Amino acid sequence: MMELFFLGTGTAIPDRLHSPAGLLVVAEGQPILLDIGPGTLNRLNLAGISTSALDHLFLTHFHPDHTLDLATLLQVFNYSPTAERTRPFSITACPGIQDFYRRLVELYPELAPLTYQLELHQVFRDEFSIGKIRIKTAPTGHTTNSIAYRLEDGEHSLVYSGDATAHGELVQLADKVDLLICECSFPSGWETEDHLNADTAGAIAQQAGVESLVLIHTYPPAQAVDLVAQVRKHYNKEVQLAVDGLHMKL
Ligand SMILES: [Zn+2]
Ligand SMILES: [Zn+2]
Repeated sequence: MMELFFLGTGTAIPDRLHSPAGLLVVAEGQPILLDIGPGTLNRLNLAGISTSALDHLFLTHFHPDHTLDLATLLQVFNYSPTAERTRPFSITACPGIQDFYRRLVELYPELAPLTYQLELHQVFRDEFSIGKIRIKTAPTGHTTNSIAYRLEDGEHSLVYSGDATAHGELVQLADKVDLLICECSFPSGWETEDHLNADTAGAIAQQAGVESLVLIHTYPPAQAVDLVAQVRKHYNKEVQLAVDGLHMKL
């Protein structure tokens, strides 16, 4: 079984229902945090999950709306008065993670791990496992290095797009998954080179033959329309628009 906690379903733009990016997937009892935008730790706390339960973070790219709370998390690991971290912590991310981490610690030297091992893994077009969970990554074209993640537990499968475009490899990566969690930054007809709109997000879901679709990362113009209806013109299965706090089981 996979359990999903939608911690942040929006962009950097302040929005009561849609905070910056963060998704917690618990598969085979193993929590994996995907992206860690500002406020993610607080919403993880609201979901009843402790930061000490986290061993794995996957980053799709390094934009602040997907990464800012990494600084907070590393601070918690070093300076939690009652729960000093000793277990290793692993960050898997797109190309550039070594440099990103080096510069983060240059800015905030107090974030360098004091009592635990920090592991950095760079992936792009890759496959690896954590326990029984199979993970696959592929580029999305939002930045030169941005990636999406596919997770499978042997029974179910999902893809988390991060920020994506129509000229990435989402269709192949999401081939017949049970759930595609897909960014849909803009409404139908909106021209964009570095994001998806209702037309391209719907077309990707349809071409990939996914069983269901959850839309995330909506900018205000996308929230001003019936986005689900626009996506349904291209994709004929189950679609819903995520809000912070959405909880699902696969
Ligand atoms: Zn973003
Ligand atoms: Zn981005």
